[in-house]
Amino acid sequence: MPLQLQERKIRQTPRGLMQATVFRAPGKFGLEEKPIPKAEAGGAVIQVRLTTICGTDIHIVRGEYPVQPGLTIGHEAVGVIHELGPGVTGYDVGQRVLVGAITPCGQCEPCLSGHTSQCMTALGGWRLGNTIDGVQAEYARIPFAQANLAVIPDKLSDEDVLLLSDIASTGFSAAESGRVQLGDTVAVFAQGPIGLCATLGAKLMGASEIFAVDSDRDRLRSAEKFGATRLILANEDPVESIREATHGKGVDVAIEALGQQSTFESALRVLKPGGILSSVGVYSGHLRIPVEAFGAGLADQTIVTTLCPGGKARMYRLMRLVEAGRIDLARLLTHVFPLEEIGRAYELFAARRDRVLKVAIRVS
Ligand SMILES: [Zn+2]
Ligand SMILES: [Zn+2]
Repeated sequence: MPLQLQERKIRQTPRGLMQATVFRAPGKFGLEEKPIPKAEAGGAVIQVRLTTICGTDIHIVRGEYPVQPGLTIGHEAVGVIHELGPGVTGYDVGQRVLVGAITPCGQCEPCLSGHTSQCMTALGGWRLGNTIDGVQAEYARIPFAQANLAVIPDKLSDEDVLLLSDIASTGFSAAESGRVQLGDTVAVFAQGPIGLCATLGAKLMGASEIFAVDSDRDRLRSAEKFGATRLILANEDPVESIREATHGKGVDVAIEALGQQSTFESALRVLKPGGILSSVGVYSGHLRIPVEAFGAGLADQTIVTTLCPGGKARMYRLMRLVEAGRIDLARLLTHVFPLEEIGRAYELFAARRDRVLKVAIRVS
């Protein structure tokens, strides 16, 4: 479905109002004026500086992932604290902060058991731009501020840290959940932004060979820069190539980063007995498991799924990697648009034009 931006002349926003990217109906979304939110108890309001568009947002505006009409979308933000609600301590208005896509409460049973993205209920940690107004706006209300605002070190730019809020964290978590060990062989199916970060995650965790699979040559070239040691075109029988390269044994860890039957199945078919299939793709419909690739259920394989981990501790951990020069994610930001042109940004990103990987939206 072509994306139809609701055309509307940008004028000076009246006092107390702001511009926000609002979902109206499948295929219909655009900038609208909304009141600047007020901070609630335990929460905060940030003035957004930089945000981005996620593949999930494309599903939302196309109506493939349902959200309430009138919702502000977007879940990745760098901002400045504009207002702190009652009960929030340890922060000051004006501080520059990174907010994760997943904003857990930090107090419920799943949170305290380490499953912050499953806060209160399944996938419940994903609130921004899903169940509450998101961050593709001039201001955004952040729930559970104390669990979720990570102060950004001065030496890091907005661009340096923006992608830590979701895709980098999700991609790295694919390698972490796959428990990649020194010398492991790893296959990563699909090299979109999350797959590229999974590739980088596998490298950081000490993988030996990293097989990157994608149908797009440009993305494979990017994969090489992110640590892939072998590049395999998806239409050139990746299962056969990887099995051959591992002398028929298969890989220790197979990562699925697309959310399709074919890539899930290929990941299983290249996985050695006792290996781990780490899945971060988002699936729809039914997912089938070919039993012969699964040792009829007796091959000691593990299938693990992960949603982006939430909370400020995760953000601090990832910012340390950037600060120490171990990762550089700003190079994934291939395009920049001002908020007024977010419709154009959506269109370019959805069409994957101009070798786009990620777009940055400069808000203030
Ligand atoms: Zn996302
Ligand atoms: Zn919770």
